[in-house]
Amino acid sequence: MPMNRVQFQKGLSMPEFLELYGTEQQCEQAVIAARWPRGFVCPACGVMQSRTSFRREGRLYWQCGGCQHQCSVISGTVFEATKLPLTRWFLAMQLLTQAKNNVSALELTRQLGVSYRTAWLIKHKLLQGMHLAEADRKLTGRVEVDDAYLGGERSGGKRGRGSENKIPFIVAVQTTEEGRPHLACLAARPFTHDAVKTFIATSMGLPLTVVSDGLGCFTVAASMGAVHDREITGGGKASVLNEKFKAVNTLIGNIKTALTGTYHAVKFAKYGYRYLAEVQFRFNRRYDMRAMLGCLLKALVATPRQPESGIRVAEVHR
Ligand SMILES: [Zn+2]
Repeated sequence: MPMNRVQFQKGLSMPEFLELYGTEQQCEQAVIAARWPRGFVCPACGVMQSRTSFRREGRLYWQCGGCQHQCSVISGTVFEATKLPLTRWFLAMQLLTQAKNNVSALELTRQLGVSYRTAWLIKHKLLQGMHLAEADRKLTGRVEVDDAYLGGERSGGKRGRGSENKIPFIVAVQTTEEGRPHLACLAARPFTHDAVKTFIATSMGLPLTVVSDGLGCFTVAASMGAVHDREITGGGKASVLNEKFKAVNTLIGNIKTALTGTYHAVKFAKYGYRYLAEVQFRFNRRYDMRAMLGCLLKALVATPRQPESGIRVAEVHR
């Protein structure tokens, strides 16, 4: 799809969203459909059983006809134990999937009418769902790879590898043979040999041609059976302007625009993998914005309950 058709495609408009997910019952039914597409399977006995339904404190519960186990339609999902109506969660999902740039917790606070802490937690739980939805992503074929820094400048002199106050991340873009961007994988990792090795092993598959600017750590690619299209540019403006890196450089520019206005660098250092997952999730689904909310919902019902303590822990670099 040409770029302008991606930008001007019809997303899920707010009136359409309200028509589909405006009431608690509609949201419940959407959760049920995403969670049990082939009918109710009891979480306790794992069998498709007949069930009876009842409501407790307004929430829909089911009782298994076999083992008598009771579960709410949201238990065992990311929504478990929430005191908020599902309509608020769905509104947050709509805002996060239809936005052009990342949405800040402060913005969500205003739009959802909840406290900052609640908005922050909802947002990070949704981002965790996006992270899990993208966990199995594998890039193959021609893949441009580069490092980037939040808070750093890419033009003029040294690009800032190893510099303090700059938060590193790695960007990989699978392109067509002509260099048009297709899919992306991002990682909040430093550009070290070990980090790149883990990144390539987890997010790429053969056949693979890695196109990079020739840093030593990309010998990793060759050692893993990939072809390495090594291009020495010396960094700075030269590599930015190099046509070989057009896709990855365009995406790095877009990521910086999406993140710089939304997050402080310190927070990015702590929760960077989730903020990057937000960008990656949207980028890899950009051809079908209307389907994004449904994709996110599928990931969220498969995401176990996320206690606040776990959500607030930073990712440890593997
Ligand atoms: Zn059962």
